[in-house]
Amino acid sequence: MTRPRKAARKPTLSVVIIGGGVMGCAAAYELSRRGVKVTVLERSVPGAEASSAAAGILGAQVESHRPGPMTKLGLLSRKLYPALVRDLERISGISIEYRRSGVLKVAYAASDVARAARELAWQGKAKLPLARLTRTALLAREPALSRELSGGLWFEADATLEPRALLSALRISAEKLGAEFRSGSFVKGVAEESGRAVGVELDDGSVVSGSHVVLAAGSWTSLLAKSDATMPRVVPARGQIVELRTSAPLLSSVLFGPDCYLVPRADGRLLIGSTLEFVGFRREVTAGAVAKLLMAAIRLVPALADAELSGSWSSFRPYTQDELPLLGPSATPGLILMSGHYRNGILLAPISAQIVADCVTGKKPPLDLTPFSPDRVSK
Ligand SMILES: Cc1cc2nc3c(=O)[nH]c(=O)nc-3n(C[C@H](O)[C@H](O)[C@H](O)COP(=O)(O)OP(=O)(O)OC[C@H]3O[C@@H](n4cnc5c(N)ncnc54)[C@H](O)[C@@H]3O)c2cc1C
Repeated sequence: MTRPRKAARKPTLSVVIIGGGVMGCAAAYELSRRGVKVTVLERSVPGAEASSAAAGILGAQVESHRPGPMTKLGLLSRKLYPALVRDLERISGISIEYRRSGVLKVAYAASDVARAARELAWQGKAKLPLARLTRTALLAREPALSRELSGGLWFEADATLEPRALLSALRISAEKLGAEFRSGSFVKGVAEESGRAVGVELDDGSVVSGSHVVLAAGSWTSLLAKSDATMPRVVPARGQIVELRTSAPLLSSVLFGPDCYLVPRADGRLLIGSTLEFVGFRREVTAGAVAKLLMAAIRLVPALADAELSGSWSSFRPYTQDELPLLGPSATPGLILMSGHYRNGILLAPISAQIVADCVTGKKPPLDLTPFSPDRVSK
């Protein structure tokens, strides 16, 4: 393996990133690649929260219900993944298990398949790959599916990966390119001088200085933003996942069914997700949620009744009321927001990192950031 060359440093730029989730790690990698000095401050360890709990679906199409800025952001990000994965795997030596698996969205009633096809017809008109499958075509593609299903939609370009491996690969690659990660560093707030962000203050009273601060603290972002700030609040939206293990893989693509989604992993694990709950920062996995997820999954794939129950967890999606991320420069000069990616932070990490790096290095971002402005009217 060739050793990555450290890029020539631009000494005037030094970025302090708050949070070592997929956002903080992706920004650290992209900024280091561009020769910027980076320090990531993480109160726990990188990837400790939502980013490692995610199912790893890169659902740019299946998660897009109408054309608009979020669809554009997701499609741009999905396109960045193959090259990013290749580079990260080469630099870090870690397999991210990226697969263009495709996503199947299925329904029991024929009228539900027809409605979904009507609602997503705009994707076909926009030349995005989308096909309607009859029941026969569906069962030919995934023979383990229930005979109760009427058909579905096939999003062949959506993909999947292993988020924990992505996090490790991003961190290791960023470190090899010169980024510094400080685990166990609890940030109390952003340090300002004459109204400009100049670094962050830690809970031991010390200050870590930088020319820019990137706030990427996931569901905890609003706890760190100034109390008089008008930006939309980021709140935790809990999601629970159940993991099963089968001796042979039962599915090849990701499945979106009524009441759950299923994500097969190469090693025989299968994730069943997920709930959507506004219960603050309560970390439990609940009996009711596990029961509902298991029932929905077994109805979709009856053979799962014999699978081994191998794990369960929950974590917090960073949710904003208008369901758009806070991405780009804030009203405080030097402070850049990278948060609120809600259900699609893994998908959106590559494009978000590019945007943040463009803001720091003075390059024009690849799309209009107005809809994602941290200073849009708070809802
Ligand atoms: C169950 C579930 C399934 C999901 N599935 C998918 C999926 O399939 N595809 C997809 O694209 N997305 C998925 N998501 C969404 C995705 O996980 C999130 O959008 C994404 O991980 C958010 O990344 P983040 O870096 O903003 O937040 P996080 O990963 O939560 O990272 C924030 C980090 O900031 C740190 N931090 C907070 N406060 C401080 C402080 N004061 N000082 C220092 N550090 C601090 C935290 O410790 C944490 O490590 C899922 C989420 C959940 C919960």
